[in-house]
Formats: sequence, C-alpha cells, structure tokens
Amino acid sequence: MAYIEPAPIKDKENPFESMMSRFQIAAEHLGLEEEVYNVLKSPVKQVIVSLPVTMDNGSIRVFEGYRVIHSNILGPSKGGIRYDMDVHLDEVKALAAWMTWKCAVVDIPYGGAKGGIKCNPREMSEGEIERLTRAYTQSMYEIFGPDRDIPAPDMGTGPREMAWLMDQYSRSQGMTVNAVVTGKPLVLGGSLGRTEATGRGVMIATLAAMEKLKLNPFKATCAVQGFGNVGSWASQLLDERGVTIVAISDLSGAYYNKEGIAIKEAIEYRNNNKGTLEGFGGAEKINPDEILLLDVDVIVPAAVEDVITIHNADKIKARLIVEGANGPTSAKADHILNEKGIMAVPDILANAGGVTVSYFEWVQNRLGYKWTAERVNRRTDRIMKDSFNHVYATAQQYNVSLRIAAYIVAIDKVAKTYKFRGGF
Ligand code: GLU
Repeated sequence: MAYIEPAPIKDKENPFESMMSRFQIAAEHLGLEEEVYNVLKSPVKQVIVSLPVTMDNGSIRVFEGYRVIHSNILGPSKGGIRYDMDVHLDEVKALAAWMTWKCAVVDIPYGGAKGGIKCNPREMSEGEIERLTRAYTQSMYEIFGPDRDIPAPDMGTGPREMAWLMDQYSRSQGMTVNAVVTGKPLVLGGSLGRTEATGRGVMIATLAAMEKLKLNPFKATCAVQGFGNVGSWASQLLDERGVTIVAISDLSGAYYNKEGIAIKEAIEYRNNNKGTLEGFGGAEKINPDEILLLDVDVIVPAAVEDVITIHNADKIKARLIVEGANGPTSAKADHILNEKGIMAVPDILANAGGVTVSYFEWVQNRLGYKWTAERVNRRTDRIMKDSFNHVYATAQQYNVSLRIAAYIVAIDKVAKTYKFRGGF
C-alpha cells in the first residue's frame, strides 16, 4: 500500500469564532452585561440565495449568494460584497461583524453588513459577471436600500459591479437611487478619493503608529502583502511619504528589492499585464511565505484572512503590523505578537479609510452635491488620525493591545447606543 502523506496542519480558524474571541475579551474589560453581549454577538439577519445565471455557452449555473446584516444599531448597515470561491456563511458573518466594529471605531453612523457570492470572477466573462451581479441585486432588493443596507466593493468587486448593482436596484424602484451603494464610478455619483481611500487610511494609520514607535518614515522599510486596490495604494502613498517598500506580492508570487521597489512602475506594469505582477522585472522573486517574515520595520498584510498564524507569528521581525486586509491575524496569533512587543494596528481601525469615504460618498449622494478631492482627503485623514489616537489612548487606559482597545471603543459605542434605543 502506498504511503499517504498526512494532510498539512492548517491554522485556519473559523473567522466568526476568531472575531468572537476578541469581542469576548473586550466585553470583559468593559464589564458588558450578558444581555447586551448576547444582542451584539448575534447577526440581525442572514440571507442565503440561489442565483441561476445563464453562462456564455448557454448552460445555466446556480451560484450561492449571501448577505449578512450584523447590526443596524448605529444606522443603516454598511459593508462590501465579495466575489471569491472561499466565500461561506461563517466568513460573511465575521466580516459583517467586523464592519459593525469598524464603523463604530471611526464613529460613522452605520451598522455592519457583508455580502458575498461563491464564484471565481477570474474565470468568468464580463457578461457572466454582470448577469450574476444583477441576479444577486434583484434577489436582495428588499434587503438593500439607502436607509437600510448599503453595499460597497470588497475582494473581487469594484466600481463596475457597483454600477450594475445601482442600475438594477434603481430599476426595481422605478427611479435612480445612487445612494444605495458606494464605490461607484465617478459619473454615477462615486466620490473623488474613494478608490484610494482604504490604502490612504492604511498610510495614515502607519505614519501615526510609526510616530509612536519613533520610527522615521524616511529610514523605514516596509513589505506589503497583496497588490490589489488596498495594497497597491498603500504602497504608493507610503512610498510618497518616504517609506521604502522593499517587497510586494500578489497571486503570482512575491517580489523583493532591498533598494526599494519602484512602486509606480510596478502599478503600471500590473495595469498593462492583466492585473498581475507576473514577470515584473524590478525585483527578485522570493518565496511568498517569506514576505511577512522579512527583516523590515513594517509589514502590511493587505490580501486575505489568516496569514499571520501560530505557525509564523514568532518568526516575524517587523516592529509594526498594519492590517490592510480584514482578519489577517488569527486570534491565536495575537498573544505571540503581544509577547514579542510587536505593535499591530488592527483591521477594524487600519483599513477603515474605505468605509469612511463610502460614508462621504453616501452623504454627497443624499445632498446631491460633489466634494473636492481635497475636502474628502482632509476629512478622511482627520478621522483616521483621531480614531488612531482614541484607540491608542484606550489601549493605555486599559493596558491592552491596540486590537482589544479598538474592540473596546467600538463595543462601548454600540452597547451605549443600544441601551438608549432599547429593545422589545
Ligand atoms: N469592503 C470594504 C471594507 O471591508 C469597504 C466597505 C464599505 O465601503 O462599505 O471595509
């Protein structure tokens, strides 16, 4: 009998449980009553739909779509839509809860939600993605709404999908409703500054944390995992502020240049190369698992969940982690980072620039008015800085990590609002 290699041990935590374990620690610090804890931990609504879509070859494929509304205590729920083969209910539930905490941390009047479709957009034609997006929107028309639940882009989606969503929703209402979704193309009521907003927020959070650690941006090195919207914008904006980006990566691999990567060239290369860095010549290719373990000052995980785990956390050399992605650090890895004295700016704070400008987009749509890029950026920078300082001060007050402090700030706000509003 042939010897069968044992399956590798994975540290894939259930994302919802991972979120809950941090929530629990913060709730204990706050002395949250059990009743309120139970309300805040349970998603308000979980919707699963089957979406039959005609493929280009005439066959019909049935996709599974999700929308989870975690909370609408602070206002209409807000959160992106993810197109990815790994989408599943527990992930969407965790991501929805993270949106609740994220909106509360930056003090914008939204609850949290998230949606997703289990699909591989890279293997689908534009027409197939459009039909899938319209089918999803149609089946969610009673869920979505500018005062109810407001979607936005996430992994695998962008302005193009948001335009179809806005159009399909508007058709169902018999009028144009552009405030139903954010992250739209500019001509449809998108906001200046929205595309780069998440990366910009990551940059502001990084600089604020570097100041606390007394790291000089002009002498600092940084590795960025993920070169999609968040990673490439964060790289470019950090590079413009003097930080040397020595490594970047995407699905094609990781690229390292100890002198610093020419980020604008890398972005241009990717844009002219079907969205991938494959073949990029401005750096040497390294093992993708190494990118977070490089001898740099800062790492920015800006790709997917669970990349910093108990299997690699003790090998991290950076002093600062800024989480561009949602959930890149598994809950079990938290204490390893704390013990090593590594500062981690958590996802619900670090990547909140995106939803902040989504909020500005929604405000502009409702006002029927357009802000200048300067106004959008100035306000985003201020919100990110104020939120960082608030979380930092809370961490000192409770003697906890920035992650637990961010949860404390968020849960405290949602719990207080809930108590004022009351229940049945
Ligand atoms: N998907 C983004 C996030 O995870 C943006 C959400 C939004 O703008 O509503 O924060």
